[in-house]
Amino acid sequence: MADKNFPLLFERSKEGRTSYSLPELEIDAFDLEEELEDVYIRKEPPKLPEVSELDIIRHYTGLASRNYGVDSGFYPLGSCTMKYNPKINEDIARLEGFSHIHPYQDPNTVQGALEMLYDLQESLKEITGMHEVSLQSAAGAQGEWTALMMIRAFHEANGDYNRTKVIVPDSAHGTNPASAAVAGFEAVTVKSNEEGLVDLDDLRRVVGVDTAALMLTNPNTLGLFEKDILEMAEIIHDAGGKLYYDGANLNAIMGYVRPGDMGFDAVHLNLHKTFTGPHGGGGPGSGPVGVSEELAAYLPKPLIMKEKDSFRFDYDRPQSIGRIKPFYGNFGINLRAYTYIRTMGAEGLKKVSEYAVLNANYMMRQLEKVFQLPYPQHCKHEFVLSGSIQKKLGVRTLDMAKRLLDFDIHPPTIYFPLNVEEGMMIEPTETESKETLDSFIDIMTRIAKEAEEDPETVQEAPHHTIVKRMDEATAARKPILRYEES
Ligand SMILES: *Cc1c(COP(=O)(O)O)cnc(C)c1O
Repeated sequence: MADKNFPLLFERSKEGRTSYSLPELEIDAFDLEEELEDVYIRKEPPKLPEVSELDIIRHYTGLASRNYGVDSGFYPLGSCTMKYNPKINEDIARLEGFSHIHPYQDPNTVQGALEMLYDLQESLKEITGMHEVSLQSAAGAQGEWTALMMIRAFHEANGDYNRTKVIVPDSAHGTNPASAAVAGFEAVTVKSNEEGLVDLDDLRRVVGVDTAALMLTNPNTLGLFEKDILEMAEIIHDAGGKLYYDGANLNAIMGYVRPGDMGFDAVHLNLHKTFTGPHGGGGPGSGPVGVSEELAAYLPKPLIMKEKDSFRFDYDRPQSIGRIKPFYGNFGINLRAYTYIRTMGAEGLKKVSEYAVLNANYMMRQLEKVFQLPYPQHCKHEFVLSGSIQKKLGVRTLDMAKRLLDFDIHPPTIYFPLNVEEGMMIEPTETESKETLDSFIDIMTRIAKEAEEDPETVQEAPHHTIVKRMDEATAARKPILRYEES
């Protein structure tokens, strides 16, 4: 579907138009076809748009102005921690001493970069209360998988080959059961109780000699703190299993409570959420893994070690699960997280959690006046509303999410977790002002009123966007319609 006012780059194409000019050739032209075997040579030139430099600039500037991000507006996407990413991170990441180095350089020539990574490892150890940290993993899901592979290696080193099951709460993020399956385990569900917390009786029922680990998010995906965590840790440890902490969202607890102190044996963090690495759009992330002393031998290699005053990679780790990513993690994202931690300091990170929790509770208490709130206790960094009142009026949560687009707001996460009917998972984050929170509350209240008085306006939304309501399944499965089909 081509937009007449915004042609595709292919539609701007004019034969023979270019956006480069090369100096005249000073040597004899070289005929590739003579040198290379036939199979390597294209039979026809690739179908590329032929455009001027100005065409390209207008095309991408136009796309950028139609794009939506945290820098352009409020983005309360639950479980994603879409906080503002300070621009000082970008300044530091662009320093030549960092941006012009190469991973194949002799470690003696990049001591500063290694020191930065080492310091980041140390900071994350302190923040999580874990014994050792690796920065290699490039995403939350990869961190989950890495930690599960380590837990598997630990059990196998103890001759414990029959621990085939990983317990996952029914409210867990979808990556949890997926990582368990990819690591070769069977994911077993443990139910939540009416309070939205793990049901301890059900946990006792599913745990057994075949339990390899429990994967848990705390606060959980409903934004609620699992207050019985120490008892849960005991249940799992007594059965010989390990506790894995999905720390993708550490935003509610920094400086207050640490996974290591809650009894967890392994944890991953999403530096592209809590620690202000830019994320979304499939860009690079960083999902460091921290472990207890007992699991440290299995960490991916190499780790960065400090010896007297110099830094080096330590490959001498015979029990390591091996390398899980080329080179050493996503350096640029790790550097941004390091910059964030250094600029905030310990007190600053504590304040981050205080404001994240305050903002979420303020918003929740205002919105429960017009939406059903399934779990009425105080929340942590996020909360989940149900659109069940509006559904009775014929307006669904999807309609309300689309209506938000008319007010230039990115909708919250919807229909998740699955145990909430018509769920809306809202995470305001600490970086939003009271004015922004109030404006969102006003707009949501207005939409709830529209659902009562003028449901069609909501059902047919969005009205003011460039693209109207899309077929969600096709948009997800076929995001790009080819030029020929358009
Ligand atoms: C985002 C998230 C993940 C997955 O992180 P990715 O970097 O997207 O792989 C896992 N668990 C929770 C709770 C999350 O919010």
